[in-house]
Amino acid sequence: MDRYDVSEDGVNPHAGALAAMPEVWRRLLDSHVDDGHGRCVACRNSSTAGVPWPCTLRVIAEDAAGIYNDEQAAIPRELAG
Ligand SMILES: [Zn+2]
Repeated sequence: MDRYDVSEDGVNPHAGALAAMPEVWRRLLDSHVDDGHGRCVACRNSSTAGVPWPCTLRVIAEDAAGIYNDEQAAIPRELAG
């Protein structure tokens, strides 16, 4: 059984691709934070009231972090150094 699509277990397909780029999702986790009023700081702009937090990017970044950490945990110790 071939399984290339990670979305079947509820993970955003973008998160799978993002998991391989830790510097990207770390930056997203860093910048897409609650502004204290339930809105995303990074997605907020002057023309709208703001995006409810966690925003889509935040959710994807958290999924990517989870996938990344799972993959790190799956690496045998002798290969991890
Ligand atoms: Zn955001």
